[in-house]
Amino acid sequence: MTHTAPTALPDLLIALRAALGDAHVLTEGDLSSYEQDWRKRVRGKALAVVRPGNTQEVAAVVKACAKAGVSVVPQGGNTGLVVGSIPDTSGTQVLLSLQRMNAVRAIDADNLTLTVEAGCVLQNVQQAAEQAGFLFPLSLGSEGSCTIGGNLATNAGGTQVVRYGNTRELCLGLEVVTAQGDIMHTLSGLRKDNTGYDLRNLMIGSEGTLGIITAATMKLYPLPAVSLTAWAAVPSVEHAVKLLGLAHQHLGAGLTGFEMMGQFALSLVDKHYPQLRVPLWQDTPYCVLLENSDTESEEHARSRFEYLLELAFEDGCVTDAVVAESLSQARNLWHIRESITLAQAEEGLNIKHDISLPVSAIPSFVANTDALLKREIEGVRIVNFGHLGDGNLHYNVQSPQGSDNKLFLQTQEDRVNTLVYNAVKALGGSISAEHGVGSLKVDTLPDYKDPVALTLMRQVKLALDPQGLLNPGRVVR
Ligand SMILES: Cc1cc2nc3c(=O)[nH]c(=O)nc-3n(C[C@H](O)[C@H](O)[C@H](O)COP(=O)(O)OP(=O)(O)OC[C@H]3O[C@@H](n4cnc5c(N)ncnc54)[C@H](O)[C@@H]3O)c2cc1C
Repeated sequence: MTHTAPTALPDLLIALRAALGDAHVLTEGDLSSYEQDWRKRVRGKALAVVRPGNTQEVAAVVKACAKAGVSVVPQGGNTGLVVGSIPDTSGTQVLLSLQRMNAVRAIDADNLTLTVEAGCVLQNVQQAAEQAGFLFPLSLGSEGSCTIGGNLATNAGGTQVVRYGNTRELCLGLEVVTAQGDIMHTLSGLRKDNTGYDLRNLMIGSEGTLGIITAATMKLYPLPAVSLTAWAAVPSVEHAVKLLGLAHQHLGAGLTGFEMMGQFALSLVDKHYPQLRVPLWQDTPYCVLLENSDTESEEHARSRFEYLLELAFEDGCVTDAVVAESLSQARNLWHIRESITLAQAEEGLNIKHDISLPVSAIPSFVANTDALLKREIEGVRIVNFGHLGDGNLHYNVQSPQGSDNKLFLQTQEDRVNTLVYNAVKALGGSISAEHGVGSLKVDTLPDYKDPVALTLMRQVKLALDPQGLLNPGRVVR
């Protein structure tokens, strides 16, 4: 770690203003949108918020900060959920916002790729792809605000992973500013390139601790002719897993979404957003949302979907189901799923988990952990939902009805985390499936990560960022 003499800071601000212009070096006014995390649990204080407009300016900022021994926190849409994209409270870090770097640089239709700058909002990337007649399949609840750079830095997942993979699987090349302020030009659109260590994959998921992503070349796919959505009531988690197996078998690559939602999670949506009219939730412990995308026709998609549901009824996996009849009905079903996070926030603070397990281990994890938590904390409420198709659950824990949420978090958060994470570890799972480590889990990670892997991670950080200036205190200490 470096120590900056306070006298170096005014010189740094002068250098930053010279590089970016006064308008893009912010030190006064309301900076809360940059300094506060999305869940509004933590507020930091930046020395300055800088808003470079191109890769050379990012490099100039990093060089000036390295010279002054000042650390840099990269930020995209600031929708991350592990407190990784805001400055600490010291008032000595530079917050580097990529939001002005939002151009689509190129679309190569024959190569099925698109090259975009890091600050491009995900929804705009999706729209640019669609306007060119292609699908960019990454899809998250935060897509109206999060950026492709943030998606890459966190290796975001979302609702289409079951078919297209995480952000990592969608990326072919990167342009990155290193901790020394050099520019790594590896914006390749190649699907095959075995010329040594895979630095692209090292950068993806590194949460701004190894380099600053300034642009990326991403894969495109043909637009499906039709996507159909079904909502099914299932009698148990075991049955949901069995339905997933049937869907893989009968829809193949057509299966593009498979989400599971517990009854309590849906009751919160029903309570806080009754206008959404949640179907089938009252008489079943779990519901499943399935999406079937088809390159042929609606008729073909519907007949395959209906055949799958018939089999599932016969097998007892499904007790009731609806298939959306129109695009607006399908959108409403997805909107219900995406509203669970917001409905929880309406209900009050809760303890969030973003865990992954082998799909085969999920039924026993849910049964054992539900029972354990209910035994340990009387009246505790479990908001269980997530991307079952990827073995990823948002297994959140809400305080007993009518109790003080804040007090519950203060007194129970560490204990609940330990109970849940120990259960995850025992079944070979991960304590962070999608959201990353940030500063929220940096001190928990050593208890659950393989120690040799953690040592190698620290050595990589030291090799690439020896001064410890890129997003310090995140991922590894
Ligand atoms: C309602 C809601 C739903 C969500 N759903 C999902 C989901 O389904 N799946 C999922 O995976 N996540 C989800 N998230 C979490 C979040 O949206 C993702 O992690 C997203 O990828 C973050 O992108 P961002 O641009 O907001 O990044 P930020 O929050 O700004 O930053 C996240 C991390 O990346 C680093 N970073 C940002 N940009 C760069 C860059 N250009 N170069 C290097 N480092 C950078 C930051 O320093 C920080 O460590 C959700 C969040 C919300 C609020």
